[in-house]
Amino acid sequence: MNILVINCGSSSLKAAIVDPGSGQHLATAKAERIGEGELPDHGVALERLMPDLLAALPGGAGLTAVGHRVAHGGARFVAPARIDADVEAAIDELSILAPLHNPPALAGIRAARAQLPDLPHVAVFDTSFHSTLSPRARTYALPADLVEKHGIRRFGFHGTSHSYVAERAAAFLGAELRKLRLITCHLGSGASVAAVEFGCSVETSMGMTPLEGLIMGTRCGDLDPGVLLHLARREELSIDELDQLLNRRSGLMGIAGDNDMRDLEERAAGGDEAARMAIRTFAHRVRKYIGAYAAVMGGVDGIVFTAGVGENSALARNRIAQRLEFLGARLDEDRNRDARVDRDRPVAEISEPHSRCRLLVVATDEQHAIARDVARVVRELAEVPTAPPIPISISARHVHLTEQDALALFGHPLTVRKELIQPGQWAADERVTLVGPKRSIERVGIIGPCRSRTQVEISRTDEYHLGLDAPIRGSGDLDATPGIVLEGTAGRLVLSEGVIQAWRHIHMTPKDAELYGVRDRDLVEVAVDSEGRDLVFGDVLVRVKESYLLDMHIDTDEGNAADLGRGATGMLVEAPGEVRILRRRAEHDPVQ
Ligand code: ADP
Repeated sequence: MNILVINCGSSSLKAAIVDPGSGQHLATAKAERIGEGELPDHGVALERLMPDLLAALPGGAGLTAVGHRVAHGGARFVAPARIDADVEAAIDELSILAPLHNPPALAGIRAARAQLPDLPHVAVFDTSFHSTLSPRARTYALPADLVEKHGIRRFGFHGTSHSYVAERAAAFLGAELRKLRLITCHLGSGASVAAVEFGCSVETSMGMTPLEGLIMGTRCGDLDPGVLLHLARREELSIDELDQLLNRRSGLMGIAGDNDMRDLEERAAGGDEAARMAIRTFAHRVRKYIGAYAAVMGGVDGIVFTAGVGENSALARNRIAQRLEFLGARLDEDRNRDARVDRDRPVAEISEPHSRCRLLVVATDEQHAIARDVARVVRELAEVPTAPPIPISISARHVHLTEQDALALFGHPLTVRKELIQPGQWAADERVTLVGPKRSIERVGIIGPCRSRTQVEISRTDEYHLGLDAPIRGSGDLDATPGIVLEGTAGRLVLSEGVIQAWRHIHMTPKDAELYGVRDRDLVEVAVDSEGRDLVFGDVLVRVKESYLLDMHIDTDEGNAADLGRGATGMLVEAPGEVRILRRRAEHDPVQ
């Protein structure tokens, strides 16, 4: 899929074509100074950018859909929405809550829908991820009638980024997001912190508008509302002037006259006291939120830094992470200083090796996150059938031989007895005896064709019987596995390694993988329906190859545990709308 992602500011339009699967940005383009001379509006800007963007698509490929970043989705949009006239009107109405952000987003939506009328357009909201905030976390202590009348509550922003980096962090930690308590710190020119408990946002520092919470480039963040009353009275400030003051002239800019962290760091290094104070105050506020959110969740497993400052400023991270040891978070300053993240290497750990709470720098990629959300909506729109059940085959214990070992055991090459389900695979006429330290197992089947290493796949029960202890491994991953003795009709072989319990896995084609929304080497869960013995298999390895036939392989112990027989099937376990990936295996994980 090729998703065009559009992000409009009041005077800018950023666009990218992103492959939601790989996250690759095929093209990016940016227009600035919209509203001045050459570019009177967002429509003209988009028209100018489109030819270059489309030229980057590989020959013959077209756009699949358009995703629009929208700041405020209010109480209505708890998920991405296909844009129609009704959704446009709702985004317009929400402009009252986000006067700086929703109107330009709407301008971009209208321009893009006019220019690309045949594509689905999807709005992705910065607020949606925080729709899981509990009433106690989203309530302001104001009179209930006013709250009701004006829909006053906390919404939170940067949701796309918080959810994206939380997911990335979980993958890096090799843990399930639904089992982690994370604090994600999105520190850009706008900044917010979120408490992500078991995959859901339960607290976040921005509120009804993006003004609450952290100290930002030009926004003040938390403020005693009494200060406003005081200033309004003493300075006789109008509403618009207050708006300007809080949104444009405060924050780092207010304290030190500069809103760019790089400039502040340079000034601070040169001894500038105001710049030092700005950095110190900024970091103090972030640290305060981290402590508060650890208390909200009753603990924290990881703290994630992202966005311009979070990804790039070792100094800011150092200041923030000071005195977090009581949470078990120990910063490794060398790692912190050396941390570099980008799209190819999006996560860097900056905590000490034994830090109980892990500190991570994660490169956010909101465009990729939006593209994925859009792809999901598009799949739903296309009513792609929910992926069909996966056939399950139960593999009895068996052996794969090298040609040389086959000759040694039988004095001749293997002979084909019958073809198996996986194309090219067959059962041999010959059989071997497994001789373990304790007992033997006779007449064990051999599966051809011959391989480059001899491999014996047995169940846990077989291990007890034979008297050995073999690890759970992917096929071909035989280093440091136990050996065994094989007996054939013509000879006996002493293997020094090669006995494994096969890692349960699913064979599928790239087309199947796309349908199920998984990739080669993903670990997924498969639920099986069985009279009285329903079971969810975790840690199921996905293996994708053009020549494979869709089939899940488990051993006899696993099959018996769920009382499965011939014709058994399983379903991939889904989190809302997509297959839950337990872990993406790293490239170097040795699985053939
Ligand atoms: P936004 O997308 O909200 O405009 P970004 O995520 O791009 O903001 O973050 C902008 C902030 O990141 C600026 O304050 C900028 O100074 C800061 N930043 C970028 N690179 C560095 C760096 N190398 N060191 C310190 N701060 C940096």
